Amino acid sequence: MGSLEAKLSAIDAATRWSENQQGKDRVRQAGGKIDKIFGADVFSQQVMRMRLPEDIYQRLMKTMEDGKPLDLKVADVVAADMKEWAIENGATHYTHWFQPLTGLTAEKHDSFATPDGEGGVILSLSGSELCQSEPDASSFPSGGLRATFEARGYTAWDATSPAFLIHGENNVTLCIPTAFVSWTGEALDQKTPLLRSMEALSAQAMKILHFFGTDKGVKRVFTTVGAEQEYFLIDRHLYYARPDLVSCDRTLFGAQPPKGQQLDDHYFGSIPPRVLACMSETEYELYRMGIPVKTRHNEVAPGQYEIAPVFETSNVACDHQMLIMETIKRVAPRYGFQAILHEKPFAQLNGSGKHNNWSMTTDLGANLLDPQDETHTNMEFLVYLCAVIRAIDIHADLLRASIASAGNDHRLGANEAPPAIISIFLGDMLTDIVEQLEQGVPSRTLKGGEMTLGATTLPQIPRDSGDRNRTSPFAFTGNKFEFRAVGSSATSAWPNTVMNTIVAESLDFLAQALEEEAGPNPTAKEQESAVCQVLQELIKQHKRVIFNGDGYRQEWHDEAARRGLPNLKDSSEAIPKLLEEKALSLFETYNVLSRPEVASRMNAYLEKYAMQVHIESETMVLMARQMILPAAIQHQARLAGAVQATMAAGVECPDQKSALQEWVGLVLRLNTTLNSLAEVDNHSEDDPSGDALYVRQSVVPAMDALREVADELETRVATDLWPLPSYRDLLFIK
Ligand code: ADP
Ligand code: MG
Repeated sequence: MGSLEAKLSAIDAATRWSENQQGKDRVRQAGGKIDKIFGADVFSQQVMRMRLPEDIYQRLMKTMEDGKPLDLKVADVVAADMKEWAIENGATHYTHWFQPLTGLTAEKHDSFATPDGEGGVILSLSGSELCQSEPDASSFPSGGLRATFEARGYTAWDATSPAFLIHGENNVTLCIPTAFVSWTGEALDQKTPLLRSMEALSAQAMKILHFFGTDKGVKRVFTTVGAEQEYFLIDRHLYYARPDLVSCDRTLFGAQPPKGQQLDDHYFGSIPPRVLACMSETEYELYRMGIPVKTRHNEVAPGQYEIAPVFETSNVACDHQMLIMETIKRVAPRYGFQAILHEKPFAQLNGSGKHNNWSMTTDLGANLLDPQDETHTNMEFLVYLCAVIRAIDIHADLLRASIASAGNDHRLGANEAPPAIISIFLGDMLTDIVEQLEQGVPSRTLKGGEMTLGATTLPQIPRDSGDRNRTSPFAFTGNKFEFRAVGSSATSAWPNTVMNTIVAESLDFLAQALEEEAGPNPTAKEQESAVCQVLQELIKQHKRVIFNGDGYRQEWHDEAARRGLPNLKDSSEAIPKLLEEKALSLFETYNVLSRPEVASRMNAYLEKYAMQVHIESETMVLMARQMILPAAIQHQARLAGAVQATMAAGVECPDQKSALQEWVGLVLRLNTTLNSLAEVDNHSEDDPSGDALYVRQSVVPAMDALREVADELETRVATDLWPLPSYRDLLFIK
């Protein structure tokens, strides 16, 4: 489809989207009954409690709560019942659902039908089928951990993340969340290290609770995650007319439209009706899967939106995060949209992130990062806070590496996104307390007070003790930290694995330091003075990572360099940090990843990075050769024809002649930059980090050079000749 036809179809679709009667009926029927449909497709704890024999239920809970191994007899009963429940709800197949290093999810469906030996079938799911399966591991990235001929891989049931149903057009599938490991037991996925990191953090946080004597009745500390997801919706007709969007999920060419996001008229604006209808059906599907989505709004760029769930335990939240992304993608076409989850689909417009809100909570529900009213007296909170400060300062490079990807390279450090320098925003109140701590025993907590709005009809409202800061990559926001640099298309599991592990290490360090400083059986006074002593030292060493100012400004980059904070500008610099001794021993000490597991991840991420850039550059070359150059030559022929005809009519036309001249020059530049890109792209290095570096240093600049000329051509060529839907079409037809 040419760009013009695509545009007309898009406009048509934008006016006819309301024909999705089926979806509308579903959502309408559900309207106002969210509580009834919520979790309808989940084999939840409540469902199990109702259906399973009491002793089986109790034994399963024991496994989930205490991490006790699951008895196969118990598993058999659970599996049989899960199967019955799934079949009652229309399922024919089940799948072990897992998260390999592709960054996506994987599933291989098996029917419940099993031959009964008498020519018929019975429907069954055994305990061992529930607990374990063996997909072929050879075609998933393993970063060199497995050779292709070593194909064995196992998936193992994560009983703490509930099984759920996915409804397709004429299929219902039972999805069993699982971890994915190799025959040798090495992690090949995102879930395994995340679960290990949660255990590591729990063990270390319990030591601090124990120190303060607040561990009564507490069995575990969980980390919690709530990730705000940004995405774009664009019309599908236009999407299919752009090979770059189809192959790379981002535009590789595209001149700036006169109106972009300058007016800030999209942010929090009224949601376009077609978009809102699409969001409603997405939410409906998510509710059914028990995913507590809460917030929806327009984001900063035109065509950009956000959805945010209520936070949950990290492993469940990260599973749900994957489902949120998949559901957005699955539902959008029903409304004629394509959802774009890429970090930077459009140059010069806001990119998309995934703000990862993170905290630690006891199994009794106490949020350990809740500062409470008189924060300066809340020594336990200050210990957790300082543990995070220390962790981020020591491992800023790892945190940066955990979010590195080809897509996020376009976002971090660009104008609207958090900088690639990792620093912490604490806000006025906590900064004040940290400064007091550095001097001795803190004695006050700054209060925000009340705000009077100037109109008597408006209520007085409480003011927070500090303002927000949108430019910080890592900000304390009330009772949690918000890691804003995570990319929109990324799995949240990996950055959270790193977060949990680095904080576990600092909690471990603090627990030891506090116990030593306080001595055996300390009095309350001795305990307080031990805490102040230890934290004072910690703050002196690590306060350089705290920064409350504008992270976008050059001054901060200079200041950060003076403070010695790492500034890892792109993936090729950041990802190799995983292989430094500091990282290897960290992951090893806390049993999160073995040395070979870390190395395999680093290789897999570097390979993915280089591969993505190669795909993009090849797509660019093809688009330039097959679409842009032909259009430019046609335009040139038009100009030449006009000059020739004018001259033949006996009229001089020096202006057109020089326009033609200039055009020919541009086309020549297009050709040259195109050929250079094709040439540099035709090379790769053998080792993954060498290749990533090559790609970053040679291929990316050549892509930029080609794009610059092509975008210039786009602003001058006759519209009917330009083969690609423009930014204006993509962003404003909705
Ligand atoms: P904002 O970040 O704009 O202030 P919210 O307060 O609504 O917005 O929080 C945004 C996200 O943070 C939501 O997904 C919310 O569930 C999550 N969140 C809130 N508290 C916690 C917590 N203790 N742990 C993890 N995530 C949390
Ligand atoms: Mg937020």
